[in-house]
Amino acid sequence: MSNRGMLIVLSGPSGVGKGTVRQAMLEDEFRDFHYSVSMTTRKPRPGEQDGVDYYFVSREEFEQEIANDGMLEYAQYVDNYYGTPMKYVNQTLDSGRDVLLEIEVQGAMQVRENCPDGVFIFLTPPDLLELRNRIQRRGTDDQATIDKRMQKAADEIKMMENYDYAVVNDEIPNAVQRIEKIIESEHLRVPRV
Ligand code: 5GP
Repeated sequence: MSNRGMLIVLSGPSGVGKGTVRQAMLEDEFRDFHYSVSMTTRKPRPGEQDGVDYYFVSREEFEQEIANDGMLEYAQYVDNYYGTPMKYVNQTLDSGRDVLLEIEVQGAMQVRENCPDGVFIFLTPPDLLELRNRIQRRGTDDQATIDKRMQKAADEIKMMENYDYAVVNDEIPNAVQRIEKIIESEHLRVPRV
């Protein structure tokens, strides 16, 4: 059996609760996930820390990283770049530990091409209206941004069929439990020779 860690890709529309689910997964002391901190050109929201929530960089810095082939994947999302620095992911997988990515769908599809052995999980909202309410409740985005995000979410839901698993995020602990079951099963998978 391979000693390489497993790459777990958690994706789905913005506002579906990916960040909260990811945080709950990382807080579970019985799990040894290593979260890959993304790089973004978006400005930090109140309370967000550089190097913890994201690496906050300028457009120039991000584009330099792309030019250096340093990104495993990246996407332009609502006027900003978001991407996964490659080095940390490869080093961690090589050392036999699992890596969790929490990314939007364009990026997830790039990872699917480059890392077909990954486990691709699509987190879905119970319905789109609830998604809109959640984004509005979060209160950090203006109306135009909410509309843009909603249009994008409708497109993203059509993408679900490109994933290995779909998990409904009705309640955070339920979603986490479903994801943990998936990961447990994937670890028991008989490797193809
Ligand atoms: P937010 O601005 O709300 O933090 O994130 C916006 C979207 O970007 C979310 O759907 C989030 O999952 C996604 N995202 C965060 N990091 C990455 C990344 O490294 N790559 C890609 N492709 N998307 C990301």
